[in-house]
Amino acid sequence: MTDKSADVIVVGGGVVGLWTAYHLAQQGVKTMVLEQFSYPHTRGSSHGQTRITRTSYSEPEYAALMPEAFRRWKDLQDEAGKELFINTGLLTVYDFVKQEEEFYSMLDNLSTHDVSHYVVPGISLSRSFPGLSFPANCKGIYDADSGILMADQCTTTLRSLIVKRGVDLREGERVLSIKPVNAKKVIVKTASKSYTCASVVLTCGAYVNKLLATVNLKIPVQPSRVEVTYWKDKSAEKKYSALNQFPCVIVAESPHYYSIPSHEYPGLVKICWHGGSSCDPDTRDHSTPDSAGVNKQNLEFLRRKVQSSYTDIDASKPAVTEVCMYTETPDSKFLLDFHPEHKNIVIGSGFSGHGFKTSPSVGHILANMALRLQPPYSLEPFSLKRFNTQSKL
Ligand SMILES: Cc1cc2nc3c(=O)[nH]c(=O)nc-3n(C[C@H](O)[C@H](O)[C@H](O)COP(=O)(O)OP(=O)(O)OC[C@H]3O[C@@H](n4cnc5c(N)ncnc54)[C@H](O)[C@@H]3O)c2cc1C
Repeated sequence: MTDKSADVIVVGGGVVGLWTAYHLAQQGVKTMVLEQFSYPHTRGSSHGQTRITRTSYSEPEYAALMPEAFRRWKDLQDEAGKELFINTGLLTVYDFVKQEEEFYSMLDNLSTHDVSHYVVPGISLSRSFPGLSFPANCKGIYDADSGILMADQCTTTLRSLIVKRGVDLREGERVLSIKPVNAKKVIVKTASKSYTCASVVLTCGAYVNKLLATVNLKIPVQPSRVEVTYWKDKSAEKKYSALNQFPCVIVAESPHYYSIPSHEYPGLVKICWHGGSSCDPDTRDHSTPDSAGVNKQNLEFLRRKVQSSYTDIDASKPAVTEVCMYTETPDSKFLLDFHPEHKNIVIGSGFSGHGFKTSPSVGHILANMALRLQPPYSLEPFSLKRFNTQSKL
């Protein structure tokens, strides 16, 4: 049976799909979201309790997305009347020998967007932030306005808000194929139904190429299985706690690692390597690197970093390990574009492990693309064309 369902169908109800639906609903567009699993689930990229958000980036195209993102997260928090953001501040640590350019471009972007911040030389880092230790060749930039987004709370809040605004959010419906009929009609098929709409937005996270195969396209994204590790704070006063205003930390060396102060598990600090092991999202956990579900090489890298940079953390092993996924592009930048042959198929993908914070602005972009309105930001840095690859299957 065919159900004329919506003007726009968003496939994938993670944080990016939900914000896209939010913007569509704001503009009075009849919108449906199809999510393959029932909520809450842990088979995508948006689950878990915490994500870092920051006022700026060293790359101007991301720095530009942050003011709107901050404003909208705050509006969501105000509307929901619950805490979605914890303001801990953020310390970004650069190896000044290898990353001088990145360091200065971050400073430029902070100034351009009028974000108050200060620079901490490597030798002063442990004095300014007891519990951290970095070599003298490092420099830190601290900005007080960044912090933690309560990720699960954010998506739960968004879901109820968009439903209140009329979005038809359907769980447990995996889209099996999409078929563009003409410029104003796409057929979207699930196992039991066939829907039609004018435009479809694909925010399918790590699963995107499975669906794009049905429209003869493959984009250069690689899903990876990411281990989320929590480490024990050994200090008596629990200095690494969000309650004690310990900041989020990003150590911007390559590959970089980061930490989020203890919050969800009291006394356990989330310290993770920013990367993972390639996987197929449907069989992500069938091929765990070892019986404990961890990639030993990645873990050893991280363990050494925890030992050298966090003076009061038990670096012998993580106390808790959870699993999530990244969808990585070759240059770690987002991919926001139309299907090359069908402008009513919009793709939002490749968030490469940093797409939560920006999702309000990215949702705005994707909604405008679906409606053929001018996107509020330049799409050039996010285009499919930048990959000089054969995208077709
Ligand atoms: C461990 C970890 C830490 C991170 N830390 C940060 C951070 O600190 N700050 C930050 O900004 N970002 C961070 N990120 C990245 C951020 O969480 C992701 O970029 C973001 O959640 C991506 O959202 P998404 O909606 O694209 O994907 P997802 O959340 O994966 O949503 C896609 C959805 O599509 C559904 N779907 C797929 N195929 C179909 C289909 N055929 N039919 C129906 N539904 C389908 C999936 O089930 C899924 O629910 C982190 C990610 C991880 C894994």
